[in-house]
Amino acid sequence: MKAEIINVGTEILLGTIVNTNSVYICKKLVEIGIEPIFQTSVVDDTELVKTALKNALERAALIIITGGLGPTEDDLTKEALAQLLGLNLELDQNAKQTIENYFKNNNKKMTANNYKQAFKLRNSELLPNNNGTAPGVFIELNGNKIFLLPGPPNELIPMFEEYVMPKLKTDIYLITKSINTLEISESELETILREIEVNYPEIEIATYATYGAVEIKIIGKSHDIDDLNFKITQVINMIDSKIHNYIYGFDYSSLEEMVVDKLKKSKQKISIAESVTGGIITSRITRIPGASEVLDRGIVTYTIESKIDELGVSKNIIDTYGVVSEEVVVEMAKGIFDKTKSDYCIATTGFAGPSADNKRNVGENYICIYTKGNPIVIYNQFSGTREMIQQKIANLALVKLIIQINNKLTLNRN
Ligand code: ATP
Ligand code: MG
Repeated sequence: MKAEIINVGTEILLGTIVNTNSVYICKKLVEIGIEPIFQTSVVDDTELVKTALKNALERAALIIITGGLGPTEDDLTKEALAQLLGLNLELDQNAKQTIENYFKNNNKKMTANNYKQAFKLRNSELLPNNNGTAPGVFIELNGNKIFLLPGPPNELIPMFEEYVMPKLKTDIYLITKSINTLEISESELETILREIEVNYPEIEIATYATYGAVEIKIIGKSHDIDDLNFKITQVINMIDSKIHNYIYGFDYSSLEEMVVDKLKKSKQKISIAESVTGGIITSRITRIPGASEVLDRGIVTYTIESKIDELGVSKNIIDTYGVVSEEVVVEMAKGIFDKTKSDYCIATTGFAGPSADNKRNVGENYICIYTKGNPIVIYNQFSGTREMIQQKIANLALVKLIIQINNKLTLNRN
């Protein structure tokens, strides 16, 4: 089924609010196998809302409209739909009572215009609003399903879960799986994946790249769940047989989740000494539940003095090679290893910009992964804004760490 979402609200078009309702609804629809094909935002203007509705009726079987169900003058969505469809608005006694009760129970003063929300389009069904006054509306007309939902997300989301979802259930099953790859590019994957995909009409394979990592998403839709499961497994096995060495996990939603999970399983610890990344790597790790089992400590040593004080980096080495150098990053990682004896110790140093020193350029950086006496150093020069450079370094450090952990895991297994 094809769907269109119409978000009514001048605030959206002025750029003063972010259209999170649309993101939420699209996600929910995709989860149940419905395909959103258009998303329209429109200002609070009856004629323009009618135009948006008219267009949607011509191209989508399901139309979900949000916003403009409130009591005020600029809330005109229901009225616009009534005009367009030529349907009367009738006072609904139940809705009137519910609104009166809501005001009484919440000790709020009800004004005459609140009654506007108790009017119902002929042949429509009102959807209860347990978190506000404006009921939602559901109407089925000439093969189109139309929902009107309130704008505030704290009203819309519970209403969507409780009253909209049950009306959208289809007998199509949707299964999504992901394969996490490292050190292979999207373009290298492209040919391999397309060759596999072409044999499975019910399966779509997409790739999502972040620096150094590509997630392969396999999305299958079918009426036959057993057959779909079988085919998805076949597709995963085929991909695995072609790119086995680049696969680092399945169904992880981030690099840090992969790090925490792998270290937990191998009962190993990490410690981190960050300069250029300013704590980003540590922060990403600590966002994952269970991080305390694997992270011993993360310290930010931003100045030269702190690198000397906290990590015992020698002043002489800094003077000779510069603070952004292979020698310093190894000393930093070794310094945190000497303190913690963690299985993996990570250090970063670099210039995120806008300035560097006379030895180095903006964007140059070093990462060290120190594994029990064995330092691995990665050098790069990144471009972009300060924040982008920091994020790229953090990402690459996590990628290189995972590769190290995996190598050791594989060696242990053999
Ligand atoms: P109310 O009864 O509060 O007036 P309403 O159904 O008339 O509700 P709007 O007046 O369009 O909805 O929007 C009310 C508030 O809901 C907005 O100020 C905004 O905070 C939030 N909102 C509206 N539309 C969206 C949207 N598309 N995404 C996120 N938030 C939204
Ligand atoms: Mg409003």
